[in-house]
Amino acid sequence: MTVQVRRPTARTCERCGRQERWDAEGETWRIADTAGDVYCIHEWDINGSFVPFEDKL
Ligand SMILES: [Zn+2]
Repeated sequence: MTVQVRRPTARTCERCGRQERWDAEGETWRIADTAGDVYCIHEWDINGSFVPFEDKL
């Protein structure tokens, strides 16, 4: 079984609603929707299934 690195292309914060999209050339996230709270500890819902980090709480 081949494991491929999945790269999310969009993410939405479940807390404040900010939306960002992945800029492959810049290799960084770009804000797609300026809505949201700058003080928010963003909790990203990336395409519903992508988990960038394991939860170690
Ligand atoms: Zn947020």
